[in-house]
Amino acid sequence: MRYGILSDVHSNLEALRSVVSALAIERIDEYLFLGDLVGYGADPHACIVAMRLLRPRVTIAGNHDWGVLDLLGIDYFNEGAASAITWTRSQLNSEERDYLRSFPVVHENPAMTLVHGSLNKPMRFNYIHDIDEAYLCMQIAKTAISFLGHTHVPGIYSLYNGIVTVPKEKKVILEPGRKYLVNAGSVGQPRDGDPRASYVIYDDVKSTVEIKRVFYDITTAQEKIIKAGLPRRLSSRLGEGR
Ligand code: ZN
Repeated sequence: MRYGILSDVHSNLEALRSVVSALAIERIDEYLFLGDLVGYGADPHACIVAMRLLRPRVTIAGNHDWGVLDLLGIDYFNEGAASAITWTRSQLNSEERDYLRSFPVVHENPAMTLVHGSLNKPMRFNYIHDIDEAYLCMQIAKTAISFLGHTHVPGIYSLYNGIVTVPKEKKVILEPGRKYLVNAGSVGQPRDGDPRASYVIYDDVKSTVEIKRVFYDITTAQEKIIKAGLPRRLSSRLGEGR
């Protein structure tokens, strides 16, 4: 099975379309989405439509999805994020809100675990920024491989004999006996200094996981944010990948 794994779309339709097009030629069997479909960007409605068309096997809830649903208070978010959440609330109808509400916080099957932030208190949406937090999360995981997003920084952590390592390669061959934690990065608002949309391909036959990047029409996404009256910083940061 080949999985196309997306996270943190954040209402960026241009980025989502580019990732979907890139994955269309990758012989993907199943799509997985790791949360934050909305928030920050100007196309919440169109991104919900596009995600539904993709028919992911699993869609996980992110903190911004919960913010829009008022399952997470607005004071949880910084100023820019909060104003985008308030704006997004005004854009969605009740049927679209029901769709977001259907997303689970954690998905676990015999092959993998999916969560937005961390398996350590998943409803608090903790961030995994370093090997200590990655270790804690992998200790909790019952499966050999877990996928998450939330930091908008793609990366792979590997655990063996109590020691966490961070392979530098973008494509990693998974070794038996190890545990892995894979951050898919962000489709719609990358923060690792590379403004291209991020996504992951996991092949469980070849036992490979690969972080991939694709260019998208950043200028159009930025113009839409300005036109919607959202904070200008949410537009400029897309160009910086920060
Ligand atoms: Zn996010």
